[in-house]
Amino acid sequence: MKPAIPQAQTSSNKPNKPLKNEIPKMTAVLCKRCNVSEAVVKSRKEIFCKECFTKFITLKLRKMLMSKETESVFKVIYDPKNPQREKEFNPPNCKVLLPCSFGSSSLTVLHILVDYLKEQHSQHKKYGFKLEVLTLYCDEEQLIKYKAIIEKLKSMHDFQISSDFLKFTLLDVNRYFLDNNNTAVLTIGEDYATQESVSPETRNSMSLTESLQNAFPTNKLVTSKQDLLDIFTQNIIKVYYNSDPKFKQLLWGSSMTKIADQVISNVVKGRGASIAKELEFGMYPLTDVFLSEIDAYFLLHFRDTYEELLYHYVPQPTLFLNKDTEYCDIPCNEVLAKNAKTINQFAREYFDSIEGDYSNVISTVVRTALKLDTPGDLKKIDLEDNQQNQDSNVTLCRVCESPCYQDIKDTEKKSATAWLNNITVHEGYPVETDVEKGYYHQWQTSTETSSANLHKSNLDSKTVSLCYGCSVTLHTSSSKSIAWVQKKDTDETELQSVLNDYILSDNED
Ligand SMILES: [Zn+2]
Ligand SMILES: [Zn+2]
Repeated sequence: MKPAIPQAQTSSNKPNKPLKNEIPKMTAVLCKRCNVSEAVVKSRKEIFCKECFTKFITLKLRKMLMSKETESVFKVIYDPKNPQREKEFNPPNCKVLLPCSFGSSSLTVLHILVDYLKEQHSQHKKYGFKLEVLTLYCDEEQLIKYKAIIEKLKSMHDFQISSDFLKFTLLDVNRYFLDNNNTAVLTIGEDYATQESVSPETRNSMSLTESLQNAFPTNKLVTSKQDLLDIFTQNIIKVYYNSDPKFKQLLWGSSMTKIADQVISNVVKGRGASIAKELEFGMYPLTDVFLSEIDAYFLLHFRDTYEELLYHYVPQPTLFLNKDTEYCDIPCNEVLAKNAKTINQFAREYFDSIEGDYSNVISTVVRTALKLDTPGDLKKIDLEDNQQNQDSNVTLCRVCESPCYQDIKDTEKKSATAWLNNITVHEGYPVETDVEKGYYHQWQTSTETSSANLHKSNLDSKTVSLCYGCSVTLHTSSSKSIAWVQKKDTDETELQSVLNDYILSDNED
């Protein structure tokens, strides 16, 4: 019965309609802050007009930037002896790095920062800092889309500013992985001990995408794949930030909701130990702004252009008062609904769903996470240095470069490897029936071929340390191994030139 399906869909899609008709049309509700303009958005039990809501979000972000520790990076600095003379202004030499995935949050941070720079210029005829927007891409589709977004941004009045002070950079993750290092293969054993082998065959032969595809060929293990991709991209962003001493601040454009999702996902993935370290590196100026608020801000400013500005994301109009306005006439975000979901997506869905009535859960998660600290005996170690500290017993994980926690007095028993080995059963149930034998044979041949690709020759093999999270992730790989970049000791100037090879700056093309 063909007509039945669309009828069923339309009736289930509009349970609100009859309710709306019952409420008589009232005159516009006024904004509670200014009492002048019509209120459009309701957030935290308060109703706002567009201007007041923009101010509300902007001030939250600016307050973070202007904290005691960071204000010197962002504000225009006068010469204290001649505060009146324009030419005595300190020239801006601070650079600020904003990693951007072209979601609503990072673009909102960009919008507010550009607005702030413009305000500085109109007040002081000077800018306080230079802003660089860094976007990492993995394939041609992303590159084309990102370039189009950047072109669009540059054509918009809101983002027009001297190109010396706003620079867009695109960095090719795969080429960086492929060419920059000789690839090493990490193999985790049944006992969770990991071997690293470097062989000439795998040298320069695999991109990150290929390596992840090899290790996780089925669509079931999207979490493991995404986990390692996130780790690698986070590490490149940090390397890029550290490669130029002019960078004085790294801004992560994550909303409070996104941070809560990151924190909970890290706990679930066995990466709870790195939460403190992750939140310590750089600055999160949106720790007091919900994703729904970001989406409302974004729609208020970019209702007509959001499709051209956002990559794989549709802002949701949950906070708008009148659901009949143009702001709410947009499709729901289907990105999360398709395909297999990662743990991060599950966490995101959960936090999205509680933003309205239980938003205090989100702020509690974030506030608790921000209070976490690196254990005392590890604080002395400069973790960003990537150096293994000889004096302490701390080793850094070969994959994610966070410390491998273990009982220093009893390293044999208390390492993540030993612990995992102790709590797991390695002997399989005996194969008895013919059906079981058939499946066993099938499984054996499938694992042999996938690991054969990576193990052509083990010339140089040594044991390396993995943290608990990386051990668990690597163990889910069907080949129990992954090609990963080789660690190398490069000084900063060389690194900068290496990185420049993989960068596509928008000013050059
Ligand atoms: Zn107002
Ligand atoms: Zn790790």
